[in-house]
Amino acid sequence: MTKQTTVAIVGAGPTGLLLAGDLARAGIDVVVVEQRDTESNLTRAFGVHARTLEHLDARGLADELVATGAQVRQLRLFDRIHIDLSRLPTRFPFLLITPQYNVERLLERRAKAAGARIVRGAHVTDLRQDADGVELTLDDSVLRADYVVGADGVHSVVRDALGLPFPGESVLTSIMLADVRLAHPPEDVLAVNAVGDAFAFVAPFDDGWHRVFAWDRLHQVPDTAPVTLDEIRAVTRRALGTDFGLQEARWTARFHSDERQAPHYRVGRVFLAGDAAHVHSPAGGQGMNTGLQDAANLGWKLAAAANGQAPDGLLDSYETERHPVGRLVLRSSGTIIRMAMIRSRAGRLARNVLGGAALRLPPVAGKAAGTISGIGIDYPRAPRARDIPLRDSGRLYEALRDGTFVLVAPDEAKPALDGSHARVTLAAPADATTPWTLVRPDAHIAWQGDASTLHTALRETGLSG
Ligand SMILES: Cc1cc2nc3c(=O)[nH]c(=O)nc-3n(C[C@H](O)[C@H](O)[C@H](O)COP(=O)(O)OP(=O)(O)OC[C@H]3O[C@@H](n4cnc5c(N)ncnc54)[C@H](O)[C@@H]3O)c2cc1C
Repeated sequence: MTKQTTVAIVGAGPTGLLLAGDLARAGIDVVVVEQRDTESNLTRAFGVHARTLEHLDARGLADELVATGAQVRQLRLFDRIHIDLSRLPTRFPFLLITPQYNVERLLERRAKAAGARIVRGAHVTDLRQDADGVELTLDDSVLRADYVVGADGVHSVVRDALGLPFPGESVLTSIMLADVRLAHPPEDVLAVNAVGDAFAFVAPFDDGWHRVFAWDRLHQVPDTAPVTLDEIRAVTRRALGTDFGLQEARWTARFHSDERQAPHYRVGRVFLAGDAAHVHSPAGGQGMNTGLQDAANLGWKLAAAANGQAPDGLLDSYETERHPVGRLVLRSSGTIIRMAMIRSRAGRLARNVLGGAALRLPPVAGKAAGTISGIGIDYPRAPRARDIPLRDSGRLYEALRDGTFVLVAPDEAKPALDGSHARVTLAAPADATTPWTLVRPDAHIAWQGDASTLHTALRETGLSG
């Protein structure tokens, strides 16, 4: 039996759920196909960075999420190397520590409320596309869609069906993970350090349990080898000087971490987003964040295409804008992990002295904080829009919650919007000297200028004929 939809998303992880909500909010018929029967109870990510919080703010979800977690303003990478997030130019100058399932829960609630259909227990095995659409093969049926997005994680069936390679390498093997109770939890929200051949990281959940990562260069075994509490205690003591009175575990696992990126994020009518498109080491906590930001970039473009309103090149700009960001994240998380793993005492000393000194230089510190938080990530022709107060009430990121473009300009700009009212919200800035600015639904700036060039900008962005 063949069913039909406008956009089919494979995978109800954070990437697929954010995208589904954006498309449904734009009135697009969207189906999410997810092989899991139930919600995920395994938490992988637990760090939500500032730029992701801004995207959630533009969807009315950030304050609720922030209330679930703890805020880290000084991100300690190892020894004395800190990244100061507290000066970031954002409402959210911190890393929020909250489990991935809290993010997924909010995004799923929003997607369903907007009308997205989430089909669980449905496994995609193949796809093929023609000029008019894409056919997804499920175990017992076929789903035909105008567009398909593979948000199906690192082992993406969609990516394989497109014949795309996933080049890269394993950077770290035999990493132990455990959710544990600690008799004497660390004073700081995050405890992290690497000493010699041992690395450990401890972060709290909101329910009294802690997540521990522990890695021992001298004990490298396959992912299937059992994890014992004694081994985690011993590695944590070597790296952090204490095991914090580690008592019991509710979950343990051993995994390896890869650095890989697909060469393309679009093939015809099919797109890749999130871990299906790129994976990196967990250092810097950027995987889920990057996937959510992919989804924020793709959603409004795909909605415009599905509605027949996308100007030439808009769908291609997804790969043009997001592929370099994926590469940057691979590089930055790779640098952190390689620096953390420096083996020799002299190398570690050099790292701590030189790295610590560099991060005390304001330009270096600002760039590091901007990169890791996502706040510093601009697209070449579309810089990030900063939140600003509006004249009548509220802020720019509140005005973005309808999913439209926002034209930040005084009332006199209104006649220019004739014909594009439904897709552009006019919002007067509180500061009358603010230049006229057209902000995309993903909170990047499409155009800045004055009345004389606004018509051209609206035409080029497909907002007027
Ligand atoms: C230990 C660990 C710690 C991490 N910590 C962080 C962190 O602190 N911060 C951070 O940002 N990131 C972190 N990450 C990475 C983060 O968890 C991932 O980047 C994130 O889950 C990716 O989201 P996604 O939606 O792209 O893919 P996924 O979450 O993998 O979701 C993909 C979904 O697709 C479904 N699916 C797969 N194949 C099919 C199919 N054929 N048919 C139907 N459904 C299918 C899967 O069941 C799954 O639900 C961590 C990862 C690990 C392993």
